[in-house]
Amino acid sequence: MKFAHETLPQRVSFASGEAPAAVATEVERLGAKRVMVIASERETALAEPIAAKLPVALRHDEVVMHVPVEVAQRAREAAAKAEIDAVLCVGGGSTTGLAKALAMTGSPVAGVPIVAVPTTYAGSEATNVWGLTEPGPEGGTKTTGVDPGVLPTAIVYDATLLTSLPGDLTVASGLNAMAHCVDAMWGPRVDPIDQALAQEGIRGLADGLGQVAQDSMSVPGIEQTLYGAYLAAVSFASAGSGMHHKICHVLGGMFNLPHAQTHAVVLPYVLAFNTPNAPEAEARMAMAFGSGTAAAGLADLRRKLDAPKALKDYGMPEDGIEKALDPILAAIPDNNPTPVTRDNLAALLRAAWEGSDPA
Ligand code: NAD
Repeated sequence: MKFAHETLPQRVSFASGEAPAAVATEVERLGAKRVMVIASERETALAEPIAAKLPVALRHDEVVMHVPVEVAQRAREAAAKAEIDAVLCVGGGSTTGLAKALAMTGSPVAGVPIVAVPTTYAGSEATNVWGLTEPGPEGGTKTTGVDPGVLPTAIVYDATLLTSLPGDLTVASGLNAMAHCVDAMWGPRVDPIDQALAQEGIRGLADGLGQVAQDSMSVPGIEQTLYGAYLAAVSFASAGSGMHHKICHVLGGMFNLPHAQTHAVVLPYVLAFNTPNAPEAEARMAMAFGSGTAAAGLADLRRKLDAPKALKDYGMPEDGIEKALDPILAAIPDNNPTPVTRDNLAALLRAAWEGSDPA
């Protein structure tokens, strides 16, 4: 064995029903006196009880998916003016993404510590990756980058906050987390620790999502899914974006597609594309699903969850397949298990666009 694995420094608390106290502890540990609370309008009801007893200097609810640069700029200006010394973000990946845009290098409040309280399974809270979207003729270009300053200092997972997540979002977001695990198996910096974490992430997600599919209010089911989603994000942050994420980032930015659903649709196609040339990853994933093959395990779970099936259902135009080819080809890492060509990528995108059988 020869590899170097870096573990990102972060405090992680699981505290179902106890987010207000757990967050207060984190804010105290930081010694923060002027907290900025970020939560979208829809997430405000979740954030209010958590923020109630904190020293709040600013509340901010302008949260937009994929963090457009002008939205980030307005938040940065407001944060600097309010002289904040910590950020509490309560919400999904879009809300965490805005908090990261505040903390990233170049922002007037760069390096501000973040306490993240996730309310979806996106996993952004456990990565040092930021994302911003520039407006453009094709609907926008998403740029992502790594910056140690954007990694939240602390995460508080409170499963009760996710009992309000609508069923379709639970499914899409949970499968988004599953995509982190699967893509970590062959990410550009993958090592055996990433694979072990991703494998356990798949097990947790498959178990948790199975429970939540039966009962959307199941706190043990949500806890298990959050646990899997955390491991998913940690393994993904370490291994780096593989083929799956490169495809989804290009499509999401170009056609303004909903993030989680896009991941949920594309995943089985990338799995089927790569596993014939990634036998060890395949065996690990099959074991984690408790299934004969990884593809069968994912297909079973997708059936249970009635998962999103086709990109055309989420607003991707048919001519988008051709438009997306070059930027995706340019982004796919060289270590991808199956060599990617214009033709096999076009076939994969068409199948995902139509929702045809991934096998
Ligand atoms: P989202 O944050 O946009 O949330 C989706 C919707 O669900 C929103 O309307 C939100 O208000 C609502 N919502 C959130 N929690 C809820 C709850 N508990 N109950 C009811 N409604 C709730 O979507 P997302 O999928 O969580 O995140 C997507 C974004 O995260 C994308 O921009 C993606 O690029 C980013 N992301 C980044 C990373 C990273 O490492 N940087 C990782 C994963 C995702």
